[in-house]
This record gives sequence, structure tokens and C-alpha cells, in this order.
Amino acid sequence: MVRLNDILDRIHQYLPGVDTTLVERAYIYSAKVHAGQKRLSGEPYLSHPLAVAYILAELRLDLITIAAGLLHDTLEDTLTTYEDLVRMFGEPVAEIVDGVTKLSKIQFQSKVQKQAENIRKMILAMSKDIRVLLVKLADRLHNMRTLGYQKEEKRPRIARETIDIYAPLASRLGIDWVKSELEDLSFKYLFPEEYEALKADVDAMLGRRKGYVEEVKDIIARKMAEYGLSCKVLGRPKHLYSIFRKMRLRNLPLEQIYDLIAFRIILQTTKECYEALGIIHALWKPVPGRFKDYISIPKANGYQSLHTTVIGPDGERMEIQIRTEEMDHVAREGIAAHWLYKEGRIISREQARSFDWLKQLMEWQKELEDPREFLESVRMDLFPNEVYVFTPNGEVKEFPRGATPIDFAYAIHTDVGHHCAGAKVNGKMVPLRYELQNGDTVEIITSPHHVPSRDWLKLAKTSRARARIRQWIKTREREKSLAIGRDLCIRQFRKHKLDFNDLIKDIGDEVARQLSFKTLDDLLVAVGYGKLSPKQVLKKVAALKCRNEECDVRLEDVLTEAKAPSHQGILIQGVEDVMVHLAKCCTPVPGDEVIGYITRGRGVTVHRTDCPNVQNFDPDRSIEVEWGTAEGESYPVKIRVRTVDQKGMLALVSNAISASEANIVEAKVSTTPDQKATFHFVVEVAGARHLKQVLSSIRRVNGVDWVERVASG
Ligand code: MN
Repeated sequence: MVRLNDILDRIHQYLPGVDTTLVERAYIYSAKVHAGQKRLSGEPYLSHPLAVAYILAELRLDLITIAAGLLHDTLEDTLTTYEDLVRMFGEPVAEIVDGVTKLSKIQFQSKVQKQAENIRKMILAMSKDIRVLLVKLADRLHNMRTLGYQKEEKRPRIARETIDIYAPLASRLGIDWVKSELEDLSFKYLFPEEYEALKADVDAMLGRRKGYVEEVKDIIARKMAEYGLSCKVLGRPKHLYSIFRKMRLRNLPLEQIYDLIAFRIILQTTKECYEALGIIHALWKPVPGRFKDYISIPKANGYQSLHTTVIGPDGERMEIQIRTEEMDHVAREGIAAHWLYKEGRIISREQARSFDWLKQLMEWQKELEDPREFLESVRMDLFPNEVYVFTPNGEVKEFPRGATPIDFAYAIHTDVGHHCAGAKVNGKMVPLRYELQNGDTVEIITSPHHVPSRDWLKLAKTSRARARIRQWIKTREREKSLAIGRDLCIRQFRKHKLDFNDLIKDIGDEVARQLSFKTLDDLLVAVGYGKLSPKQVLKKVAALKCRNEECDVRLEDVLTEAKAPSHQGILIQGVEDVMVHLAKCCTPVPGDEVIGYITRGRGVTVHRTDCPNVQNFDPDRSIEVEWGTAEGESYPVKIRVRTVDQKGMLALVSNAISASEANIVEAKVSTTPDQKATFHFVVEVAGARHLKQVLSSIRRVNGVDWVERVASG
């Protein structure tokens, strides 16, 4: 069992003279609250946090992380609260312990590769402070070392999770030894027979080749010395799982795995590494295509080394890695190694996404001031734009940040979305506007009576949910318009004592086609939406019936009436005789540029394109309109005239208006303190050109400062 002093000794190796009070206090507290608890191995429970803290010290982490390691199970397994931890050990320690506890509560069952990747991303995202993940990895490593004490039926699941989720995470953080150990331990429990057999075979082979390994190491060391290079030479077998994986992948027997033993030459400088490579290639013939330069192009996790494969003294292939002391350190301890040297910085989203941040960390190495500050300031927001949540079955789903239960519901199934009545997150009811958080387990409550509303568009963040909601609203509105359209037609026909449903029965499709619609329903929707007037339908029905010689006097009346000229003279997308209103706000007149706005059941309102209200239009309901050629109509328009405040001005202006043959409908006057008068007129004009004449004749009146058409209001 690890003792406190082992941990403190370890810390003093890399942080000489540091004050370790925090760690000692964490130890005392942990011992107190875990007192009496036992591990499945029968050891006192405290042995576990001690082992975890020791692993963290091996990773050369800061005191906060190590203290958090000692305390990592106190929230879960003792009466300790988060507030207790904040009070006694400060917020950073408390936050790490809290993060680890949250991660531990989740059981990952990964089967599909994509799912495993999502879970790994989620864990990274949840570990806002990357130290949470390091403590979790240390925790998992010790639990894997003691997995033999766990109930037999539980072992495979834990081992599977370790190899699918945690070993790749360790690898991503570049902590090679943790990754290898996690893989080998998982291998042992997942494939016990294969593991034992391979272990025996590898041991036997190493025994046979011990002399050979020593001989190669000697040759290398001697050659390097000849060229004045001082170096360390290591010859170690690869870890079992990597051998196993290679055998499986390539379907090879152990004898044909040539790089069972990796030789490693460790030097002082990068320059020496390339020199050593030259010496090796002069000594043994390199295998073409096997040389890799990870010094000039480091791996994404920061790994640097030269790799080459050569034909060794026995005519066998062997892999040789060449690197500096520091590169070796990074290769073994990954991100943890950087932390001793590097200063923390908030990384950009893009860097985070591609894991370039590890490379970035390498560069910051040179700028270090206080190594301990780094750990305190580093906050890894790795996937700031995404959240990962669980379905009740433990499946992980990915959403943009800010997503709500509505997005989740539509991600499950469109029908679940449409009938989403509420949601439970982690077992508690939440409002639909709740923002999903990493690690949430979300359950949707549906009700057949619940349907989407326009408000949902504000809550939904995913395009899938938004599209489905829009689609639903559109369908629903179509249904409404259809009912309104049918109703309007029935009423219109009734005015002429005709029965719409009866008359339309046999000729519905033809009427629709002649009015350029695909089906009668489409036509009725258009009526309901105001794009077509019921009168037009009536006219068309009458025309068809009479052509088919099924005419009667009521239908004939309709036809005669229809020949009377239509009012307003507005053409709408080539369709005539639509219910049209000229907007009161901007009083358009023929010649103005205009746009139509569809009002359900009330037809089209025509506005000037420069009317301020036009900006608020729903583009879906705007419709192109233009002026027809109706003659003899007059249109009211509002104008404003500013004059000097002088007797007789109203008469002068009114005369000018009448002289241009415009009719005054309304006149109001107001005076202003600066001796001016403002007249408001509503005048009737024939169109834009006429209006222009009216305005210019007013402008010519003596005493008029200016005259303008009122834009709106
Ligand atoms: Mn634990």
C-alpha cells in the first residue's frame, strides 16, 4: 500500500522544497472520512485514493490535482459536501472532485465506434478543467489494477469501457504509459486465454533472445561512443495488447512480428538525433518506407521521435526510435509533462477542435515562468459548441450548445417531437426552454394532444427540429386555409342561392386546372389564403356549367355580373379580381411601385414599396402586384404642406389643388410657434403622375415652404 510519504517524496523530486501542506491536509481529511470503509480487496478504502494520488505524482502534476486525487471519492462515498471541500481545500480542488464524481456516475456502454468517439468527446467536454480527466484516468488505472477483486460478472464491462473510452483518452493526451497499461489490463480481462498464451509466448521469446537484445544494445552504445555521442540505449518489448492487435490485424503469428522489441536511443539534442540516425543507417540496412520523422512533424498529441526499421545483426528486422531526453519524457507522460514547463492560455475553438492545442503547448514551453501557475490557469474548453447528452437507453447524442429538449425530441423521432409535452432531465421535470448540459440524461414526455407551436421555433436550435416544426405549421395552416377557403366559397355561392358543394362535385378538378391549380384543395387553400377570390371561383364554375349546357338563370346572372368592370385596377400575379385593399398607411396610387401582402380571408392589401410597414412583412406572405389599366377611378392620398402663417393661405393652396383637377376630401391645419402653418390634406388623384402635377402646382403658390406626400401614418 502506498504511504503518504511515498507521494510527498515523489513530489519533492520534481517540485523541490515545495510546501505540501495542502496534500497533507487532504490526506488527513480523506483518512478521516473513509475510516472504516474497505475496498473489495479487503484493504482499507484509503489505499485507493493514496494509489490514485501516487499515480498523479508519477505524472508530475500540481498539488491541487494530487489533493483532488486524495479526495476524489469523498463526495460520492462519504457525507462530505461540495461546500465542505470549497471551505477546506478551495474551489479548484472542489471543482475537480466534483467533475470526477459526475464522470463516475455515468456508465458508458459503447459498442459502435461512433458512439465511443462521442463519449470520448463528451468526457473531454465535461472535463472543462483537464485535471478532472487526469484524476479520472488515475482512478481508472488503479481500479483496473485491482479489477481482479471486482465481481467476475462486472469485469468485462469495466474492461470494455476502459479499452474503448479511457485508453484512447490517455493516448489523446499523450500519456503513453497509462494508455499501454490500461490496454494490457483490459486485454487480460477481455480475452483471458489469449492474454495468458501470448504472455507466455512473449516471455519465452524474450528469454531466448535476451543475449540478442543485449548484443544489439552493446553495438549501438559502442558505435555512438565512437562518434562522440553519449546516449542511453533501451531495448524493451512492446506492450502485449499492441502485439496482439498487430497479430490480429495482419493475421500473423508471433514469430513474424519483427518489432516485438523496440530499441530506443536517447540523446541530448535534436541535432544528435539526426546524427545517430545516420550512424544506424550506416551500420544496418534500413527497410525502405519505414523511416518516420516525427521530430520535424510531431504527432497531434505532441509526440516527437525518429522511427526507423533496419535489418539487424541476425538478419532480422528491428525498430529503432531515436529521441532526446525531453521528447522521451513527453512521449511517456504527454500533456502532463508539458504542464511542468508551460504557461496556460485559453485556446481558440479551432485549435481545440483539431487538437492543435497540444502542439501549441509545445511552443509555449519556452515562455514558462512559474510552472504551477500553468495548471491553475489552464481551462480546456475543448468542444465549446457542442453538448453531449444521453437517451434513457444510454445512447449518446450530440447537439449544438443551447439546444433544448425540443431538439432532443426531434432527434429521437419526428412524432416524438410533434407530441413533446415536457421533459425530464436526470429524473427531474424541466421546462422546454431548458438548455441541455453535458452528461444530462433526457427523457421526453409525449402527449397525443400536444402539438408544436410557433414559439418552438425560438427554442429549437437544430435545423432538423426547426425544419420539422415549420413543416408542421405549414401543414396545419394549409388545413386551416382549406377550411376557410371552402367556407368562403360556400357563402359566396349562397349569395346567389347556389350550392357550392353540389356544383363543384363533378368539375372540381377542371375548375382548379383552369385557374392554374393542381387540385381543388390547392385552389381552396388559395381562396382561404386570399390569393384567389371566391367570386372568381363562382365565375369559373358558372362559365363551365353554361358551356356544358347545365346552365340555369342564377348561373347566367353570375356571368352577366362578372362582365362589369372590376374595381381598383390591381393585377395580382396575372390573376384578376382578387379582394384588394389599398393600404391606409401609405395610400398608394397608380404609378407608385407597390407590393401586396396577403391577409388570410381578407385578400391582399397593397402597400407602396417604400412604406415603412413593408419591412416587417413575412416574405412568405408577400405577393407581387402591379397596377392594371382601370380608368376613371380616383385614389385618396395624404399630403402635407408647410407655409407661412398668413391669412388666406388655405384658400390659395386649396385653389391650386382644385386647379389641377384633384378633389379635396379632407383638410386640417395646425400652426407652429415659429409663425408657420402646416396643412394636412387628403386629396383624390388618378395616379402618380396626376399627384405630381398637384404637388408642383401647390409648390408654385407664394408663401409655401414645401409640400410632401405623407409616407405613412
Ligand atoms: Mn475512485
